[in-house]
Amino acid sequence: MSIYSGPVFEMARDQFHVIADHLDIPLDERDRLLLPKRAVAVSCPIHMDDGTTRVFPGYRVQHHLTMGPTKGGTRFAPNVDIGEIGALAVWMSWKCALAELPYGGAKGGITVDPAALSRHELENLSRRYMQEMIPFVGPRVDVMAPDMGTNEQIMAWFMDTYSMYQGVTVPEIVTGKPVASGGTLGRREATGHGVAFLSFRAMEKIGVEPVGASAIIQGFGNVGSFAALGLAERGVRIVGLSDHTVAYYDPKGFDIPAVNRHVGAHGVLRGFSSEAVIDAEALLTQPCDLLAPCAVERVINGANAGQLKCRIIAEGANGPTTPEADLVLRQRNDEIFVIPDILCNAGGVIVSYFEWVQDLQQYFWSKREVMDRLEQALDRSWDNVVRRAEADGVSNRTAAMAIGVEKVRNAKILRGLFP
Ligand code: NAD
Repeated sequence: MSIYSGPVFEMARDQFHVIADHLDIPLDERDRLLLPKRAVAVSCPIHMDDGTTRVFPGYRVQHHLTMGPTKGGTRFAPNVDIGEIGALAVWMSWKCALAELPYGGAKGGITVDPAALSRHELENLSRRYMQEMIPFVGPRVDVMAPDMGTNEQIMAWFMDTYSMYQGVTVPEIVTGKPVASGGTLGRREATGHGVAFLSFRAMEKIGVEPVGASAIIQGFGNVGSFAALGLAERGVRIVGLSDHTVAYYDPKGFDIPAVNRHVGAHGVLRGFSSEAVIDAEALLTQPCDLLAPCAVERVINGANAGQLKCRIIAEGANGPTTPEADLVLRQRNDEIFVIPDILCNAGGVIVSYFEWVQDLQQYFWSKREVMDRLEQALDRSWDNVVRRAEADGVSNRTAAMAIGVEKVRNAKILRGLFP
């Protein structure tokens, strides 16, 4: 029996088999491509502020080691399990291959609600998790980064913990660090900037003028807030917003810098407005030009895909659209243009790659250099996906995943199977 179970891993597996069928990959090759190479499960005991001890389960899954070290974020959330982490690691592999980065995919996480911990408890847990992972990670083995529920500060604690054990500072062990600790300019906004950048490419493609266009953003964390800002800066009206505490909809649009100030001060969206509150599920089916899910998996599903009233879906989150929804969206191909997750949110790992390269070389780039190279990399992937979708007559998701899976498969074939 596989340790990878649950709806999120099933979704990654089903998506993979659609692509494998499309590429005619023989059945006996498929497990080697899909199943993660390594999975580490740890128990992280920490001292709580009240003097008690608690133990939190932590995971790290490394999908394949064929093209270099593995790379992937670390998620702190109450529902984290190894099936979800495994799925996210698999998606990272296709994403890195599509973006032509020399990495396999990885992902890690702790089953915890970070908002329920004090700063001191969060630091204890972050450091203990990294300490437990030291035998399994390294700058040329597996490089961590932030994901949902983690941030620059946690990456700084990871880097410091790893470095204390090595006896020298090793900034290249994690990306998404503060700039003052060896991070790169542009990483904080990279993913959301990429979501906005590709949204503009999609608008151009289907003939939507950004000024006055409307967008709904689900999730207002790192990805959602910078996506909203990037869109608003070019005149897009953000008519819908949500986080895990509240959802808002107002056709007049929200003042994004003001929303950012509110979230900066209070940590959550709740309390920003008393008038525009809407049911969180209903938010997704309100009319808009662009819908950007930037929170959790499986929010666009078989039940709501037929009700969506947007023209573009920009998948800032990983895995926001289920395979059932994909079937519906395929029928609606002429109405809704999908920018699939492994293309749409790749800005994060692309700039993480730039950060790793800068750390290895101890030579740092200007923000302009980082952003220019990011946009060039996204443009290249965009062109490859759109061209492939049109040539093969398939959805953008199938095209993007086919490019990623093919690259990993070819690398495996060329290296051969040891022994
Ligand atoms: P984050 O922790 O900074 O923010 C997550 C946001 O989602 C918060 O506003 C939270 O309140 C909200 N949220 C959580 N559950 C929700 C729900 N059920 N409905 C609505 N909102 C909800 O996380 P992030 O880094 O912005 O990551 C968001 C998504 O983007 C994840 O799927 C992550 O894997 C993906 N992603 C992140 C990066 C990155 O660089 N941070 C890169 C690529 C992909």
